[in-house]
Order: sequence, then C-alpha cells, then structure tokens
Amino acid sequence: MNVDILQRLAIEIQDFYENPSSVTPTVTAEQVREYLEHYDFQAPVPQNELFGEVMQMMRYWNIQISHPRYFGLFNPAPTLSAIVAEAMVATYNPQMAAWSHAPAANEIERHTLHYIARKIGLLPEHHSNPSGILAANFTAGGSEANHSAVLVAMAHHFPETLENGLLFLKKQPVLYVSELAHNSFDKIAKHVGLGLNALRIVPVTDDLKMDTAALQSMLTQDKADGFAPFMVVGTAGLTSCGVIDPLSDLAAFCQKHQLWFHVDGAWGGAAVFSPVLKPYLAGIELADSVTIDAHKWFNLTMGAGMFLTRHPQANAAAFNVRADYMPASQEDVAVPYLTTMQWSRRFIGLKLFMMLADMGEENFAQLMVHQTAMGERFRQKISEAGWQVVNDTPLPVVNFTHPALMEKGLTVDGVLAQLYAEHEVWISSVTLRGQKVFRMCITNFKTTEADVDFLVERLKSLLHTP
Ligand SMILES: *Cc1c(COP(=O)(O)O)cnc(C)c1O
Repeated sequence: MNVDILQRLAIEIQDFYENPSSVTPTVTAEQVREYLEHYDFQAPVPQNELFGEVMQMMRYWNIQISHPRYFGLFNPAPTLSAIVAEAMVATYNPQMAAWSHAPAANEIERHTLHYIARKIGLLPEHHSNPSGILAANFTAGGSEANHSAVLVAMAHHFPETLENGLLFLKKQPVLYVSELAHNSFDKIAKHVGLGLNALRIVPVTDDLKMDTAALQSMLTQDKADGFAPFMVVGTAGLTSCGVIDPLSDLAAFCQKHQLWFHVDGAWGGAAVFSPVLKPYLAGIELADSVTIDAHKWFNLTMGAGMFLTRHPQANAAAFNVRADYMPASQEDVAVPYLTTMQWSRRFIGLKLFMMLADMGEENFAQLMVHQTAMGERFRQKISEAGWQVVNDTPLPVVNFTHPALMEKGLTVDGVLAQLYAEHEVWISSVTLRGQKVFRMCITNFKTTEADVDFLVERLKSLLHTP
C-alpha cells in the first residue's frame, strides 16, 4: 500500500477544508475533454501524477459548494467528521442489503434514524422499542425519498395495484402538490405510471404557501369527476424560496379526507433541530411520511437522504420480494433490500451518525441558529440598501431584486454573469410570480458576517447604489 498517497490525501483534505479555492471555475467542456484525452487507460499512470491531476481538476474545474461564499442551492459544506466517515465506509465497504451481512452498519443507521424520527415527532421521546410503528431508511437523496413516499402511499391506499397494476383500478389516483413543490414529483408521477396529469398542481397564495381553499375545491371537483385522491404533499422549505407550507392545516385536511400526508422537508426538515425554527414546522409530526435530506442542511457529503413513515406495513408491502439467493432474514430486524428501493446498499448513514456524535446536538443546533442569523443579516442589509426582498420565510433563503435594475440597463442574468466571472461569490436566480429574481441561501456553516457583507457590497457596487 502506498502510504505517501494517503498522507498526501490527508494534507489535501485539511488544506481544502480550510481553503476551498475560488468559488466558480473558468472552464469549458472542450477544455476538460481535451485534457482527459491523455487518459486512454492503456498503460498505468504513475500514482502520484494521477492523484495530483485529479486533485487539480476537482479544485479548479468545479463550483466549490463548500466555499463559505457559495450562497447556493441546498448544497452543504461537509464537516471533517463526515469526510472521515466516507473514507471509513470506503475502507470497510459493508454490504447493507441483508441485515446479516452488516449488523453494525444496519444498527448504526437504525439508531440514527430513530433519533431523527424522535426529533421530528414521528416517534415519542424516550421510546425504546419502536419496531412496528416506524419504517425508516437512508436514500440516495430527497428524490428517492419522495419516490418511496408515493409508492408507499399507493401501497396503503390501493394495495390491489401491487398485484394487478394501475389498469385494474376503477378510478384514477391523483395527488396534490403546490405549484412550487420540488420537480422530483414530476419525475415520480411518470415513473410510478400515474402520469403527469395525476399530479394536481395547487396554486399558492400571495405568501407563496399552498392555497388550502384551492386545495379543498380541487379535491371536491376531482371526487365529483370520479378520480381517487390519495395524497397531499406539503413542503417544509420550498426549494425556490424557502417558504413553509401550512403543515398543520394540511395535516388536518388530510385526516378529515383520509388522504396520505407527506411532508417534503428535504432541506428545511432539518430545522426541527433549531430552537428558533422548530415552531415553524409544527404539523410535520402529524405526517404519514417525511423526506429529510442528510446531504443538505446536516453538513454532510453528497448522497444521503432519509425516508420515514409511520406505516411500516404499507412500506413492507411496497418493497417486499422473495429471492432465494439472499441470506434468510431474521424476524426482529429491518432488512433493507426488502424494505427500501435499493438492493445493494452502501453505508449512507455513517456520516450522519458520526457528525451528530462528534458535534453533539447542542452544537449542531447552534450552527443552524448561526446560519439563520446570517440569512437574517443579509435580508436586513440588502433591504437597507434599497433592494426588495420578495419572499417571507424564517429560513435562510432570500429572494430579492432591485426596483431600478431595468432602469440601469441591467438584468438578473447579466448581474449573475458578472458575479460568476469574478469567481468570488455564487448566487442564483429563480422566477417567482412571473418575475425573475435573485436567490441566495446560507447553506454553509462556515459562512461568516464578513462573507455576507462581501456579497452585499458587491451587489451594491454592481448597481452603483450607495
Ligand atoms: C433538494 C430537494 C429535493 C430533491 O432532493 P435530492 O436530494 O436532490 O434528490 C426534493 N424536495 C425538496 C424540497 C428539495 O429542496
């Protein structure tokens, strides 16, 4: 084994953690492809050269989402404990599909998922033996978790489809999402065979929350028209604007009409850890199922979502199979290949376990409080500078524009192009109520007041505002 390379990697991990290069790259597809041409996989490349070249490409030819001035999409900066956890997963490479192949890994995930479930309120505090009232698993991300939710909700409401498929149903199933819900539901509607038309798009009110009055009348109409409504998705932290749907109202609505209530908290669900933010998520504990991404607000490396449901039987019905080449399963344990979408399964949960254990709940909560305060600081400073904040959320996502943008001959895209060319910050844009606006999000626990102020000053000078 080449110890030099391991030492070099350790140095790079530490150095990159402290100095994650410039935020945005200057590179074209052409350049990268041309460079890669000398990798023809014929003769071996000397290891030192190979490692050095990969490190350079990763550092300078990617957007650095770990940079404290990446005010980006919901992408995290990983903690060192998460990076070490990934290296350990790679070292031991446990196969988690069958519980009996990886008792330690499977139980570490179960332990962590039950803790998360208690924080959300899906399990009572201090519940010692929650088998039978919860099914939970790690996923590749929020999309897989949302996909699982739709499959399990269908298994619950239309169990006959598991044998016969959708064609045998007398009424077509439909589900409700807000017009600002994550577009993973478009893919899911196609993948599960319901089709895009089964996805009922509920409009939002002026505050960008799902319009519950509209939801009620759409439900009434759908029932009158002979459809079979089965599910409502509320979002805790919309991707575009961070707004939280009225979760308690939606929970009550679903209970009244016997609909499956799913909360997509891919990013914002983590806010249950913040004493400041938790009250805004009231109602999430009433959900039939929850999506919450570990690779967004938990400061972990990519590839970690979570799916939790209080309907383990429907969950088992959705995913159970018989395969005689797999090891026999035990009664008292969850066997991932029988209870989740994946078969071969990597040890996704270790990084969340290690981050939480390494940091402790109180420190983790403080990071969220800090990020929320950084979002608030930006909101305040940019408003003071005469810009207009167009979303209203306690979470650190700010949508904004300037009333004189057009007057000054500028566009949102133009300003973004200028910022990207400077390599110092990254923000994005989104269209809300027909208007293209800027979007910034605090997604990095290392972002400081100075980083926030830097962005404010750059924006002010680009617009020549005082
Ligand atoms: C990011 C996001 C998703 C998708 O999650 P992935 O981890 O990217 O698959 C789903 N819903 C919401 C609200 C999101 O923000």
